[in-house]
Amino acid sequence: MPDLLPTVPDATGHFGPFGGMFVPETLMTPLQDLAIAYEQARQDPAFQIELDYLLHNYVGRPTPLYYAERWTEQLGGAKIYLKREDLLHTGAHKINNALGQILLAKRLGKSRIIAETGAGQHGVATATVCARFGMECVVYMGAVDMERQALNVARMRLMGAKVVAVTAGQATLKEAVNEAMRDWVGSVENTHYIIGSALGSHPFPMMVRDFHRVIGVEARKQILEKEGRLPSMLVACVGGGSNAMGLFHPFLNDPDVRMVGVEAGGDGIIPERHAARFQGGKLGVLQGTKTWLLANDDGQIELTHSVSAGLDYAAIGPEHAYLQSIGRVEYTYATDTEALAAFKTLATTEGILPALESSHAIAYIQKIAPLLPKTDIIIANLSGRGDKDVEQASKYLL
Ligand SMILES: *Cc1c(COP(=O)(O)O)cnc(C)c1O
Repeated sequence: MPDLLPTVPDATGHFGPFGGMFVPETLMTPLQDLAIAYEQARQDPAFQIELDYLLHNYVGRPTPLYYAERWTEQLGGAKIYLKREDLLHTGAHKINNALGQILLAKRLGKSRIIAETGAGQHGVATATVCARFGMECVVYMGAVDMERQALNVARMRLMGAKVVAVTAGQATLKEAVNEAMRDWVGSVENTHYIIGSALGSHPFPMMVRDFHRVIGVEARKQILEKEGRLPSMLVACVGGGSNAMGLFHPFLNDPDVRMVGVEAGGDGIIPERHAARFQGGKLGVLQGTKTWLLANDDGQIELTHSVSAGLDYAAIGPEHAYLQSIGRVEYTYATDTEALAAFKTLATTEGILPALESSHAIAYIQKIAPLLPKTDIIIANLSGRGDKDVEQASKYLL
């Protein structure tokens, strides 16, 4: 394992052979400017002070590291802690990144924000910070997703955002990203694009990771306070990979901490019925970055499926591709059925409704915890709350 992992990516945005900047020519200079502005902001104490102030007073950090006592007893193995990102303002980890990026946009003198959203959680987080900073907000969303996530569409609109329906192709997240990119090519002068996961062209995967690192930094401090030692294992679900990167990153140089990313297994590993990129995926380029993705033999992006919209995307963040390639992080998957069963377990044993995305991490722990000794400690990232999924879960579980 190479040491000093936190030094990736390199100056051109590469995590080993992954990542990079695969964008239209018109965006190259703006993205290079963004990378420079971000580097300056990162080193500016005033930027960090404002970010920390708002993370604490507006977003609700630090989040608790909660010992799930009943669930641990039920499984009879490793001791399980939950990092409670579900308790944040707007209900998921996504606001950590939306807040960081809008502060950067303000610094760059931008007056307009665009974003893409799948389930609507990132759209809601972006609409929220735009209202807070008085910026114009346009969110691109697939027409199919708008119908499935009507509550989040209403939340965005109530906070003053314009939600634009995208009807091309599958009319879900991938097409929404294409529309947002098209807008940005023509509007980059006054507009910042807040990407919602550790994906896209450099510097986004690095920036988004850094804005979520606070999850792992807090968890590390909290577990040392509570247990006097580091955890044996970290577990997080992986869509684009932002909540997982946030939890994992501050532990990368601790070789005794095992890390597991859980992708969406959908109906099982059958083409077009899942979104587990490391299960039958290929190396390719999608929407700005080189990484593992789901494509057919002609290189056409395949349809994906997951019960959780937030994990339903054909590509994985490039830093995950790198961490998988060097063997630092293990990747597995949970199916829709396993995630729904895990949702029910956490609801009835701990009184917590997890997001269906987070339920994939919970599902893996259901399998692994009983096999581990009681002296082991697992930290799971509870990336979001399940209120948005109540209708869907009720349909399957009640
Ligand atoms: C969006 C979302 C995810 C997936 O995104 P990552 O970038 O992989 O973290 C996971 N959990 C919740 C609650 C989400 O809203």
